[in-house]
Amino acid sequence: MSDSKSGLPPGELLFEAPKRGKPPRHLMDMAPKERRAAFVELGLPAFRADQVSRQWLGRLSDAPSTWSDLPAQMREQVAKMFLPQLLTPVRSIDCDGGTTVKSVWRLHDGAVIESVLMRYPERVTMCISSQAGCGMNCPFCATGQVGLTRNLSTAEIVEQVLEGARALDRGLIAGGPGRVSNVVFMGMGEPMANYGAVVEAVRRLVSSAPAGLGLSARGITVSTVGLVPRIKQLATEGLPVTLALSLHAPDDELRDTLVPVNTRWPVAEVLNAAWEYADQTHRRISIEYALIRDINDQAWRAELLADLLATHLVHVNLIPLNPTPGSIWTASRPADEDEFVRILRDRGLAVTVRGTRGREIDGACGQLAAATN
Ligand code: SAH
Repeated sequence: MSDSKSGLPPGELLFEAPKRGKPPRHLMDMAPKERRAAFVELGLPAFRADQVSRQWLGRLSDAPSTWSDLPAQMREQVAKMFLPQLLTPVRSIDCDGGTTVKSVWRLHDGAVIESVLMRYPERVTMCISSQAGCGMNCPFCATGQVGLTRNLSTAEIVEQVLEGARALDRGLIAGGPGRVSNVVFMGMGEPMANYGAVVEAVRRLVSSAPAGLGLSARGITVSTVGLVPRIKQLATEGLPVTLALSLHAPDDELRDTLVPVNTRWPVAEVLNAAWEYADQTHRRISIEYALIRDINDQAWRAELLADLLATHLVHVNLIPLNPTPGSIWTASRPADEDEFVRILRDRGLAVTVRGTRGREIDGACGQLAAATN
């Protein structure tokens, strides 16, 4: 059964983003075949599309004037037709000695998004946005308070990664020249509510040049509040990305308030979808759990969580709550956090407590862009 106009399952329209002017068409919106067709339509030979893609994705060059394999006049035409600037830097703030860089971008219609680059000794992770704002309304999340402005296009998503890749390639990030190894959809937005553009963006990221950026799907994490039909769909795409499920509570009573979409797809249902995803992709599920003082950090909730997760292919990522401005909630007491971790580990679960990179620059969870609006 599907809605006759949108082709989406009934009720999915609830999550439809407001319609705004579309961003201008960009090379990164197009699959390789579409790029060739678009070039031919302009009277350019198809192989030129591959050359341009190789410059853009392979060499990470965003300066068409330097593309000596193309005639000068064609470079200008291609830049104008296929490479409009989608992300305009508003500001960029760094910390951790320049190895964490948060960027705020303005889009063509004035919408604001953010991305964060985090460099570790063994990897570089880009945390990117899938929507401007978010419609999921989780009360502890800064983006949730802003509401949904609109979905991002595939190119707007891919360009966030490419901006980071270019900066690294040029040695502009502390630590010298480098490459992006990981991408997490944990910036603004609910990726599963912008499914088509997100899946296309992932394809662009994992295909090798000139089709894409050549990242490993294993290094990509799609984080969701738990839109069950979309989790099931993602399992069929042949893209073995890591699925992160923002659980935050093991019981429906509390999860209904922390992650309101739970009233539609409750804990048991969303976990079943996650286990199905793990079965189909052989990828370990990452369970995200923000520890909120006296709200979800009780020992009995840790026991209940362990009951739900034990025996499954899973990893628990505990996130000390990053308090949003004006919120009455705060992070758990260290002793409660330790006890929560201990209970889960005693039950044989793999647990990490997420580092608080970028906290002093509002690097976590939509805070800076929210402050810019
Ligand atoms: N909408 C997606 C992805 C974006 S949020 C999702 O919810 O999964 C990425 C992660 O940060 C989610 O697990 C989210 O619950 C968590 N998060 C949001 N606000 C937070 C806060 N103030 N402190 C700690 N974690 C937060």
